[in-house]
Amino acid sequence: MEPKIVSLEMREYIAEMGGDTLNWCMQCGLCTNLCPWRLVPGETSEKFNIRHMQRLGQMGMEGFEDETILFACSTCSMCQTNCPRGVKIVDNVRGMRASLVGAGMAPASLRPILGSAHANGNPWSGPREKRMDWAGDLELPSFGPDKEYFLYVCCHSCYDPRSTKTARSIVRLLQHAGVSFGVIGTEESCCGESLRKVGDEELFLNLAQSNVDLFNGKGVKKIITTSPHCLWTFAHEYPELGGQWELVHYTQLLEQLVNEGKLSFPKSLQKKVAFHDPCYLGRHSGIYDTPRNLMKQVSGLTPQELQRREASSLCCAGGGGRIWAEAPVGERFGELRIQDAVAKGAQMLATACPYCVNMLTDACKSLEKQDDLEIIELAELLAEALP
Ligand code: SF4
Ligand code: SF4
Repeated sequence: MEPKIVSLEMREYIAEMGGDTLNWCMQCGLCTNLCPWRLVPGETSEKFNIRHMQRLGQMGMEGFEDETILFACSTCSMCQTNCPRGVKIVDNVRGMRASLVGAGMAPASLRPILGSAHANGNPWSGPREKRMDWAGDLELPSFGPDKEYFLYVCCHSCYDPRSTKTARSIVRLLQHAGVSFGVIGTEESCCGESLRKVGDEELFLNLAQSNVDLFNGKGVKKIITTSPHCLWTFAHEYPELGGQWELVHYTQLLEQLVNEGKLSFPKSLQKKVAFHDPCYLGRHSGIYDTPRNLMKQVSGLTPQELQRREASSLCCAGGGGRIWAEAPVGERFGELRIQDAVAKGAQMLATACPYCVNMLTDACKSLEKQDDLEIIELAELLAEALP
């Protein structure tokens, strides 16, 4: 067997790119056992071992750069929430990816996505001038000094035809409750969360800085996000770039409006509904009760709790750039999630993240369960219960 090459330069480079807690790891392996890759069969599952990957990164050793493995982590945070040393595993994965992408070695499958984000300001190949097409004939106010909130719509919901329905439902709910809000429009760029997670630091910094300058220039003080990924990156990665605003995920604002008596859902929906906790709303942001409290406001709904829920929720596999990956049928985390919901007799599986809707919808189709189980974004469900 050939000896492995240890590179102190590589080790330092990974640390500089975000992997500075690699050395805290004591190699206990708890992370590996908690990872959802342990729950599915297949080649990636056989090869993917987060403890081992971090060992290689710790030593700056060749081997971590196998892209099918390095880019398999969905950054779900299941492992790091339970690490006894508090190792920032997601940042370590990001640092290792950045050491490749920063050197011009992005995986071929990601190049069109990164190229689109460079050219269009979003990774979905959507022309900038069509960013607001999702609104259709909705009367959408522009953000200005007279508006309390800036509504930042995730690029996925701007360009993905299924996801535009979510954005439209959120607008309907906000308008129904009389919220003062507006959008900026075609000048907005992607928040960059997933682009940074796949390791493109430079692209992230460019997009984030242009958003910070734009939002501050418009006088934004409070932001409503439609996606928990945007919420997380605005909260954790934008402040050091000068972006400091009051942030709410749309579910948090809706709960507040309900508590203030400004929003109610009088229409009865006779359904058994389960809630899938998105990783970036739940484990990453600690928001668990809010979506459940909102569902309780709709009469006729029978909530069903999934066995794996809240901090133990199972990832849909759409984070960390995996929304752009092709996992073979039978190897998708989302399929396990559909089985969880079907086992509970749920007729609807609600969630509050555009990536989760996408991944769960695909999984539902691949298991041919779409006649038994409807995948729905919580905003769509709540909008159905408006008068
Ligand atoms: S759980 Fe933490 S300490 Fe244990 S191997 Fe994983 S990263 Fe290292
Ligand atoms: S973040 Fe999630 S997918 Fe990535 S290694 Fe940890 S548990 Fe596995």
